[in-house]
Amino acid sequence: QSQELSQVQIDYQAALQALLEDGTRMVCTGRMHTDRLCRFQSLCYSTEAEEFIYFHSNASVMLPNLGSRRFQPALLDLSSVEDHNTQYFNFVELPAAALKFMPKPVFVPDVALIANRFNPDNLMHVFHDDLLPIYYTMQQFSDLGAEARLFFMEGWSEGAHFDLYKLLSNKQPLLREQLKTLGRLLCFTKSYVGLSKITTWYQYGFVQPQGPKANILVSGNEIRQFTKFLMQKLNVSLEESSGEEYIVVFSRTINRLILNEAELILALAQEFQMKTITVSLEEHSFPDIVRLISNASMLVSMHGAQLVTSLFLPRGAAVVELFPYAINPEHYTPYKTLATLPGMDLQYVAWQNTAREDTVTYPDRPWDQGGIAHLDKAEQERIMRSTEVPRHLCCRNPEWLFRAYQDTKVDIPALLQVIRQAVKSKPGPKKQKWAGGLYPGKVRDAKCQASVQGTSEAKLSVSWQIPWNLKYLKVREVKYEVWIQEQGENTYMPYILSHQNHTFSENIKPFTIYLVWIRCIFNKNLLGPFADVLLCST
Ligand code: UDP
Repeated sequence: QSQELSQVQIDYQAALQALLEDGTRMVCTGRMHTDRLCRFQSLCYSTEAEEFIYFHSNASVMLPNLGSRRFQPALLDLSSVEDHNTQYFNFVELPAAALKFMPKPVFVPDVALIANRFNPDNLMHVFHDDLLPIYYTMQQFSDLGAEARLFFMEGWSEGAHFDLYKLLSNKQPLLREQLKTLGRLLCFTKSYVGLSKITTWYQYGFVQPQGPKANILVSGNEIRQFTKFLMQKLNVSLEESSGEEYIVVFSRTINRLILNEAELILALAQEFQMKTITVSLEEHSFPDIVRLISNASMLVSMHGAQLVTSLFLPRGAAVVELFPYAINPEHYTPYKTLATLPGMDLQYVAWQNTAREDTVTYPDRPWDQGGIAHLDKAEQERIMRSTEVPRHLCCRNPEWLFRAYQDTKVDIPALLQVIRQAVKSKPGPKKQKWAGGLYPGKVRDAKCQASVQGTSEAKLSVSWQIPWNLKYLKVREVKYEVWIQEQGENTYMPYILSHQNHTFSENIKPFTIYLVWIRCIFNKNLLGPFADVLLCST
């Protein structure tokens, strides 16, 4: 991987002339700063001012052209975390003529993806905020291929997991600090700025307590396409589990410990009749961890970022998340949300320590490791007495940190009981099953025929044809839902039917107009679209 930007391929004088004449061009997608991604030609960056520069000329383009709304609050989010005020992107404007008085630009020939990493020392953040969003932003724009170069502008050093970022393209990613060594004024020939948020499933609690995102747009399929890519890059082969089944206990070695880990491992092995092994970020290389997890039947771990590795579990495996005393599992669900994404096909179990005598607290540690000695006495006592951390905002709530960094002696019989209850089928690698969940199309050729009997009774016969895609599918159960609504009324009568025609006589009045809505349903829960409404007069 070459770190230097080779200036050989580009004709420097021509590039400079083009910049002077054409200036910067920007075209973005997205209506708001929170869903915007921008493509630039000739976006520049001053490493002295640490500002991006947009050069105006006769040929420059700026879409959207927001005027001063560009600062309300920003043009776009540079990280995948929504609307975080430390992660905004903007540029300053200059006329292209100002280039005459500026340092000679150094041109970046690679297609660039410019973004912020959010928290590169925490594995959950690395995958959720950075790797998945970068991977799918690159999929969105065809010129962000294997030869694209990533530029991380958040200002952190490489961090604990830089090797993972390097897998995303063939070029070494560059950090903000390194840009200074390249020159005083950098001009990106072609660049994309910002990250797609389409794969993120969790919000960390900056404006409301943490929880799953309101509108999750990713499924297990896309997660698994990404992990397949990463495993190829890590040289971890996805061999069908030929060997024996086993359980992985992912342990933490610095804090939030399982105090009776050896006993737990023996008990798991005995209960499930499987070999049980431990891994930790401190003692295993990342490729080894992925190799072990990708063939495991069950992953057991304390709540914590290491659980994001359940991304690599095979379908059918179980995730068992252990929560320390006073931490309500329902309030901290990044890994539950991941495991239960449609199509992830993982079984998820949470266990919480509810026994005060089984927890070990650390009130005297520094505040960021959960210490509370800096708080006033009354508050310390309140926290000590409390049996549940109330919902709170990110990220420095002392009661949360105090409880999150407890060590736990796991009540093994209680844990095994919870696992037995929740894990229905035998956990373990499963062949990809082709259910996938395909939805029906609209029903076709819907027709209605009315008949009136006397002045108070009428019948409505409705018929339709199967959705077009059904003839190519094997579907266990096909049903139809029909809604009959009297014109002008707000309510309707719903029916679930097995056949492609039905005669309705209940509550059907003569000389009335009915609206009839029909849709097909596969396997009870795959609801298709309604066909165009049918107008039927009795
Ligand atoms: N970590 C670890 N072992 C430990 C403590 C932490 O591997 O004993 C890792 C953890 O998985 C995460 C990072 O260090 O990637 C930061 O951990 P922290 O406790 O701050 O965050 P959390 O795991 O609660 O998200």
